[in-house]
Amino acid sequence: MSFLATVLTLYPDMFPGPLGLSMAGRGLQDGLWSLAAHDIRTHATDRHASVDDTPAGGGPGMVMKPDVLARAIDAASAANDPRPRLLMSPRGRPLTQAYVRELAAGSGVVIVCGRFEGVDERVIEARNLIEVSVGDYVLSGGEPAALVLLDAIVRLLPGIMGNDASGNEESFEHGLLEHPQYTRPRQWEGREIPPVLLSGDHAAIARWKRQQSENLTEQRRPDLIRPKDWKK
Ligand code: SAH
Repeated sequence: MSFLATVLTLYPDMFPGPLGLSMAGRGLQDGLWSLAAHDIRTHATDRHASVDDTPAGGGPGMVMKPDVLARAIDAASAANDPRPRLLMSPRGRPLTQAYVRELAAGSGVVIVCGRFEGVDERVIEARNLIEVSVGDYVLSGGEPAALVLLDAIVRLLPGIMGNDASGNEESFEHGLLEHPQYTRPRQWEGREIPPVLLSGDHAAIARWKRQQSENLTEQRRPDLIRPKDWKK
């Protein structure tokens, strides 16, 4: 069974979007994964096909209605669907490579994309939505966040990446940022490739890479070395 991504959105035309090209797109064509984007609006029932309403207690913007969204979720994913149901949300669990790996090891994901001010809290509770954030900034909708999440998952699926080893050496895979990379020409604008990388001494190269990774991580992202756990 290949990995199945179901996306619930008000903008199904945004999918597969960039995931239809390059590695992910080839994987989609070859059936290594599949994607179903469902339009939440088809589950609206009133004359205007409303999917949102004004926030209880006042305040700006609109909130996605729980009844319409729940119908969309129930139509796309049966009660016994083993796939986790995720809601893209800036309040969510920060997306990490470890969580991406966990999701990529499963049978798929159901992803709800919010719009407006977000979704009615009751549908999050009633449908066990796991809120996931792609970073500490606010997007206008969950769709770009879903594309980010799916891109990170899909590249890990079996058969997608040409050189499978490359997935294990990347930033975050060992809790560290990646060392600097170089390629030919050996000298460019007066800058040399670090001589150790041309030495052929594999142990020395491995030590250099490790040291560079540790230094970079300490400088730029000390939080990766001393992580805080995500508390719901
Ligand atoms: N009022 C909300 C923001 C709503 S933004 C708040 O202050 O928390 C509209 C939608 O965009 C959200 O429902 C969510 O689906 C998506 N979104 C925005 N920023 C995001 C982020 N950093 N990560 C994941 N999804 C995000």
